[in-house]
Amino acid sequence: ICTGDTMDINELKKKLKNFNPKMYDHCVRTMEEAEKLAVHYGADREKAKIAGLLHDCGKKMTKGSDNLTHSRIGANFAEEVFKVHDEEILNAIMYHTTGRENMSLLEKIIFVADKIEPARKYEGVERLRKTAYYDIDDAIIISLESTIEYVKVRNLDLDNDSLKTLKFLKEGK
Ligand code: FE
Repeated sequence: ICTGDTMDINELKKKLKNFNPKMYDHCVRTMEEAEKLAVHYGADREKAKIAGLLHDCGKKMTKGSDNLTHSRIGANFAEEVFKVHDEEILNAIMYHTTGRENMSLLEKIIFVADKIEPARKYEGVERLRKTAYYDIDDAIIISLESTIEYVKVRNLDLDNDSLKTLKFLKEGK
């Protein structure tokens, strides 16, 4: 059984660099941010690192496809190519762009780490960084709301999965 604890993160990094060089730096930064959040919230540190590192491994193949698709392909690659069989890690990769109802702490951490890793620059990112370490649910709400706003302004298709996540988190407040 290949769980988070027994995987060599350096091996995974090497493999990812070859597999998806374009996403590599962002993935490493997301891994580091995810580790910090895991320590802060008492989540499994190794799983957070692996999920953070591999969260966008499926991105290059899916230009133009929707959010859940690139995440789902990423989760497939994580399993088939990187031999990660841990269900929690795979779900964190799968739901890192849309979220879902009843997210696990690890899923929330990967979702947020991706949006606040140090190279991210957009309006509101500083507020999101602070919120992330204060109330991770609020951070997801803020992030989803601004994504939905972005989509509305540009008349793009609203992502139903993201809307469901947002509704669920707001009802839990
Ligand atoms: Fe990402």
